[in-house]
Amino acid sequence: MYQQQIEAYFHSAEHRQQMLDAIVRLCRIPSEKGSPMPGKPYGEGPAAALGEALKLAQELGFPVKNYDNYVGAVDLCDKASRLDILAHLDVVPAGEGWTVTEPFAPLVVGDRIYGRGTADDKGPAICALFAMKAVKDLGIPLSGNCRLILGCDEECGSSDIRHYYAQEPEAPMTFSPDADFPVINTEKGSLHSPFTAEFSAGETLPRICSVECGVKVNVVPGTAKAVLEGISAEETREYTDAVTMDTGVAFQVLEQDAKTVVTAVGTSGHAAMPENANNALTALLELLSCMPFAPCEGLERIQAIHQMFPHGDYYGENAGVAMEDFSGKLTISLNMLHYDLTSLKGVYDCRASLCATDNTLRDVLLARFAKASIQMEDTPMNPAHHVPEDSPFIQALLRCYQQYTGEPGRCIAIGGGTYVHHLKNGVAFGCSKIGVDNHMHGVDEFAEISQLLLSAKIFTQAIIELCAQP
Ligand SMILES: [Zn+2]
Repeated sequence: MYQQQIEAYFHSAEHRQQMLDAIVRLCRIPSEKGSPMPGKPYGEGPAAALGEALKLAQELGFPVKNYDNYVGAVDLCDKASRLDILAHLDVVPAGEGWTVTEPFAPLVVGDRIYGRGTADDKGPAICALFAMKAVKDLGIPLSGNCRLILGCDEECGSSDIRHYYAQEPEAPMTFSPDADFPVINTEKGSLHSPFTAEFSAGETLPRICSVECGVKVNVVPGTAKAVLEGISAEETREYTDAVTMDTGVAFQVLEQDAKTVVTAVGTSGHAAMPENANNALTALLELLSCMPFAPCEGLERIQAIHQMFPHGDYYGENAGVAMEDFSGKLTISLNMLHYDLTSLKGVYDCRASLCATDNTLRDVLLARFAKASIQMEDTPMNPAHHVPEDSPFIQALLRCYQQYTGEPGRCIAIGGGTYVHHLKNGVAFGCSKIGVDNHMHGVDEFAEISQLLLSAKIFTQAIIELCAQP
């Protein structure tokens, strides 16, 4: 029902232009997180973007509420909430090297609108707002409310929605247009525990003086560096070729201040998909483990870490935690390590299948590290998130997707966490098209206008299906 009216509504040049103008209006405001100010927990930018979005919603005739500049809410009607749509107005930093337009000067080129936030997540937020407007303009009678929640801290830890849900209940159903279509209903659990060890310095040469690697726990490192003593660059190079052949990671070797400096160069990537990167650190440990260093406690620890996380073992086989279910294989990636003559500390990033428990994951890793005299921090895993595919809510979303795209709807499991990870009945729904890279978080971020319009239609239908039923 209503498909014809909805198609016609978003086919109108006037409505299309209104939507684009609204996106431009919000994307002009730089809204990356800033230092907290009185009444502005995330600084000036996010508060300004929220103020503008709520003003726009009011102009469209909706009642709004500002929750202390943490989030804002826009209500479709005054009935009890049945559906929340959770989008965000904060953005990641613009970065350098934009080529099409300045990051905060949104520009339409053909079917694309360029600018920071156009795809993540101001564009999708506006799609949801105009879907609500369409439901209102089409005069469809509602039996439950749809509330658009506009957050201001999705990119830096989602403290915004913690503030909100501390005072408001979760709606019976929530979707977040901050990822991909069709529906992401499963998000893996995670564990990223730091580990440390102290030991006595090995006095005999050759020895490893230091290893330095990693920027962020969730980034597979693209480079890693070791400083060696008592072994020349020339001798070191005798070992690097074989490891490069084996791993695809290149090594630069130089002599500096009577020491040998080895830099491993792989490919960095997101820890949720370690297969797509080439981990420089695990390749460096492979190299160090096959070189003829004098035995010492530190070397034993390096070798133990190498055995737990050999290069290319993305699935925890050697760490003893390999597992798999419908949510996919567990992945684990060693991403940071600092080593000196008397201590080491490191951290791995593990994305765990739905079936993982502290018992089958954390405790196994704890024991493995302990056996090598390395202490792992004993924190519980962040549980996985899952909403059953056969629930009427998910079935309705899949139906709406299918109805407007003509493509089969299906549920997806991912290794990353989305905005709804901690919501009981929340899923990610839209707005990116499968196979299109919108350069979210990169330079030249863009959204496809046709995809935004399609998303707005799908959301309109979803609101009707979920809120207009008796
Ligand atoms: Zn986002």
